[in-house]
Amino acid sequence: MGKLHVITYGCQMNEYDSERVAGLLKERSWELTERESEADLILINTCAIREKAEEKVFSKLGELRALKARKPELIVGVMGCMAQLHQGAILKKAPGVELVFGSPAIAKVGDLVEQVRRERRPVLETGEAPLVKITAKPAGVSRLKSYVTVMEGCEKRCTFCVVPVTRGRQRSHAPTAILTEIRGLAAEGCREVTLLGQTVEMYGRDLTPATDLAALLEQVNEVEGIERIRFTTSNPFNFTTRLIHAIRDLPKVCEWVHLPLQSGSNVVLARMHRGYTRERYQELIAELQAAVPDVALSTDIIVGFPGETEADFAQTLDVVEQVGYDNVFVYRYSPRPGTPAATMAEQIPLAVKAERNSRLLEVAGRIAAARSRRLLGRTVDVLVDGRSRKNAAELQGRTRCNRVVNLEAHEAVSVGDVLPTRITEVLPHSLRGMFASLPEETACLSK
Ligand code: SF4
Repeated sequence: MGKLHVITYGCQMNEYDSERVAGLLKERSWELTERESEADLILINTCAIREKAEEKVFSKLGELRALKARKPELIVGVMGCMAQLHQGAILKKAPGVELVFGSPAIAKVGDLVEQVRRERRPVLETGEAPLVKITAKPAGVSRLKSYVTVMEGCEKRCTFCVVPVTRGRQRSHAPTAILTEIRGLAAEGCREVTLLGQTVEMYGRDLTPATDLAALLEQVNEVEGIERIRFTTSNPFNFTTRLIHAIRDLPKVCEWVHLPLQSGSNVVLARMHRGYTRERYQELIAELQAAVPDVALSTDIIVGFPGETEADFAQTLDVVEQVGYDNVFVYRYSPRPGTPAATMAEQIPLAVKAERNSRLLEVAGRIAAARSRRLLGRTVDVLVDGRSRKNAAELQGRTRCNRVVNLEAHEAVSVGDVLPTRITEVLPHSLRGMFASLPEETACLSK
């Protein structure tokens, strides 16, 4: 049919969707290319979570106009969250775009592209559609670690967030469909899965009969070949004791939890409509840390939310100090069209957001370094996942708590091995380690 190039912005769910789209188009004989200059079809999978992410997309679309001028038969399409949020406005703002479709329309991508080729006029598809589990993948993709979408959408309506508009209502995939996908991945060599959902802790409550994430984790834990299970992203509002016990009790579920705090101030949390207080969040963390003593925690925090005072921000710093996160993702508040927060009074000046951003990063960095130091001298399991990025002669892997470890290569060690490793050095963004035993020794020890 022709060559397809996919450009992906945004979260893991977008990465997952891009792969599904490439897989579906492969079934229509579209061949994936890394080079946009040789593509006949370019799809941009977009993120609408912040203004900056959108600016990047429009700047890329501007670049592609020059390519399209040289190659008029080229089809340029925009998919994902921006497509769903801005719909037809994208066609007006970016002439040359001929296809705009949201996430619910992914299953129809083959037909939509065909329609553009046939009619050579812009096609817009942003309506709701039934949730379909798509497992198509492009040729040659078999991964040691894979994302698996288990649910779509969100009904929480936090006042800063466009996800309920871009991804729609909360809908879960059936456990059987998810398990079939994971068994297929394991058969192809996958050792680690990350279950994805915008509010993944709500998994299954919309199904009939209803189920929950803890029950799904139990089933995934039984899949042969899978060594590690992670899940993200959770809203603390619905994080249950049952889920905490699943992390504690299921051997393959990693001691790693991403739990967005967003703010440490109750006033700001209420204005964000998050559904929990600072105290409830800290209770949950205490429960997690008591049940899973070595749990690694990461979080998202927004600085400069409308009305955030210095005192509010100080409370956020305080929670960060008390929790002791392994990683903090800090975002400067960015008003999103159609969200209540965008029109709130007391928008915070950019300079204040930037200053709070730096202060928070400094505190978070200091705490993360201290958390890394606790690993020094300890022996932990590392999943070897490839060559080191900085030195191809070395191997790289990850701990169960999601830390990168660089290691000297050894002929007995292959990608995919999970090996006990002694941590010998702690660097700002990674660890160094030595294998504490090699594959045969590990096998002997385990017998
Ligand atoms: S829970 Fe998450 S996805 Fe849902 S509205 Fe809030 S921030 Fe957005």
